[in-house]
Order: sequence, then C-alpha cells, then structure tokens
Amino acid sequence: MYSGTVQMLDSPDPERLVSGPVRLTRRTVLRAIVGVGVGVLLSACGGEELDPFAQGRQTSPEPAAGDDPQAAAQTSQEAVDEQQVSAQQQALALPEELPEPLVYILPSPVSQGETVLVVVEAPGATAASLWWQGQSLSLLQRENRFVGFFGIDANAQVGPRALGIGVWGPQGEQLLWQETVIEVVAFDWTVDDIQIDGPNAALLDPAVRRADHDARQPHQVGQSQQLHWLGVFDPPSDGQITALYGEQRSFNGGPITEYHTGIDFGGETGSAIRTANSGVVSWAGRTRRRGNGIIVDHGAGVFSGYYHLSEVLRTPGTVVEQGTLIGRMGATGLATGPHLHWEVVVRGVTVNPLPWIRLLEFPDPFQDLNPAGALQSTNLARS
Ligand SMILES: [Zn+2]
Repeated sequence: MYSGTVQMLDSPDPERLVSGPVRLTRRTVLRAIVGVGVGVLLSACGGEELDPFAQGRQTSPEPAAGDDPQAAAQTSQEAVDEQQVSAQQQALALPEELPEPLVYILPSPVSQGETVLVVVEAPGATAASLWWQGQSLSLLQRENRFVGFFGIDANAQVGPRALGIGVWGPQGEQLLWQETVIEVVAFDWTVDDIQIDGPNAALLDPAVRRADHDARQPHQVGQSQQLHWLGVFDPPSDGQITALYGEQRSFNGGPITEYHTGIDFGGETGSAIRTANSGVVSWAGRTRRRGNGIIVDHGAGVFSGYYHLSEVLRTPGTVVEQGTLIGRMGATGLATGPHLHWEVVVRGVTVNPLPWIRLLEFPDPFQDLNPAGALQSTNLARS
C-alpha cells in the first residue's frame, strides 16, 4: 500500500516543541463559572486590587543599613539565636506568602496534529483545571506541580482558540483564573490516493469505520489519576516508518475522506511489537478496519494503540512496562501487507506520535522541565 520510506524530516518542525511558552495576559473572565460562586470568582480575578495573592504578599524587609564590621565581629551566638527566634515569630505572625503561579504552555503556536502540554506551578494549591473546547480537563498534581495534555486534531480548524486555566486552594477557593488564546496553525499534510480492491474494498464503508471507532473510543478516553510513564516514548517496532501521521487520504481516486491517524512501521509478520511506554492495557480486541489491536493507557489522558497485529499477547488490566512485548506484527484488518499502525491518543484525539518518540521533545512534565534550557517561566500574576 505504501511505497518507499518516508523521511522523518518531513514531520513538523521539532524545534518548536521546545520553544518558549506563550506569555499569558491577565484578564477577567466573568462568564466562566467553575464550581464556585460568582462572588468568589470576582474576588479571585480582575485588577490588582483583586489579586488573589495580594493578601499573602509582603514587601521585603529593608536590608540592615550601615553594617559595622566591628559590630559584626562581636555578634554573639545569643544574638544569632535571637534573630532566629524573631524570624520564627514573624513567620508565625504573618500570613504565609504564596508564590505566584507559573504557567507553561508548549508549544506555542501549536500546529495541527500536535500535543499541547500545560504545566502549572502553584505552591499551596490543591487543584487545577483546563478549559478547552467546551471541556473541563483536570490536571494531575504532584506536590506543587500540575500537568495536563490535550491534542489538536490533524484537521483542526486553524486560528485562535480560547484556553482557560483555573487553580484552586484547599478550601475550594479559586486562586487563579486565566484565559488565553492559543493560535492553531495549519500543517501542510501530504495527500495520498490509495488503491484498495478485493475483499478489503468493503472495509471502506463509512459504517465500518464508525463501528471501529465506536468499539475502541471508550477505551482511549478518560484519565487515570496518575502518570504511568516517565520520559520519552520508544518506537514500538524495529521496522522502518513507512507512512506518517496526518496524511490526507482518498481511496480509489475518490475524494479525501480521512487522515492517517498514526504512523506505520513496515516489517515481517510476527516481528515484535513492544509498548512505547509504561501503562495499563485498556483494550485488546479486533475490529474489521484495524484488525487485531491493543490499547495502552499511559495516564494523564494519553493512550497508545497498536493495530493490524497477527497476535495480541496481553489482556485488559495488565500492567505493562516500557518495552513489554504486547503483540506481533501482522496484516489483519484493512492492510495490504504486514505493518504496524501505531497511534497516540490524547484526550480522545489522535495526535502526531513522532514528538513522543524523539528524545527531549516531550520531557517528563514532573521531572526536569527545562532539559535543553529552552523554557522560561511565565509569571502570570505580574503580566
Ligand atoms: Zn496506518
């Protein structure tokens, strides 16, 4: 079906994936009622006098003037102790100073087919959410950091899109509500007409495609309350990449009806298919269109799917590590030869898997956020 080896360089520019975060503007959003009363929202948003962190923010004490070296030399241990006690009393007497939340969004702008990572650093907060495309997406928390992903469809409408970010404190009070705009830019996908004949032609029926989608989709949405993976994903096959994500496809000379929702790896029937990263098997089964397949839930709304397999070797609920053998390459379903069709699904949207398997393009969001020194923090409260 696919001729030749596609150059990986044809994929979206990877450099943008580690570009600096978008700078958000402070802006009151009155229409967003996020599980709190309007009064709370009003007091949590808006002008500086309503700064949710203003109460806790203290001006720095003046440094001691006229330091006398002699006096310093005479400083006794008692004086040091006194200073420490005084500092402790001050800390007890004054409200705790909350650092202002930092929000990272990358990449920005975002191209069709890309995954967006949002990281919120908010000490003292207990919950954070995104609002995107009419959906509320809760972020995963580890200590002071909240992370979340969402996907941009390969054929997503280009232009500005609103993104909201909310942060809540221990009493359910809203500490921050920000709305910003993400610019979705077009990607110049390749176009391919694919010849399908024989028994496979029946699989082009839109009803077959819908049935395939409906059987799998419930198992690749939702969010585990933990991140199962660490670090970069591995290619699930040793084979060459033979087709890229996003390719606009027509069949037998007809109109374009769909895009390629994953990347294909060529190879021999029976060759090993391994998990791209750790997770839990959420589905294993067969559809007419994708043949034998298996889906792994990696947590945080990120899933990977492996299709056209000759054999599926794991069952739903199985915990898998990165590199676990989960199946064998085949040509079941709509395939003219043995290959692996591999997908990455983020919040129910199939995205370009390539950034997930290239070193440092998608760092572990709970670990070193700035591996290449390319990211800078964005201070919302001062913008
Ligand atoms: Zn494919």
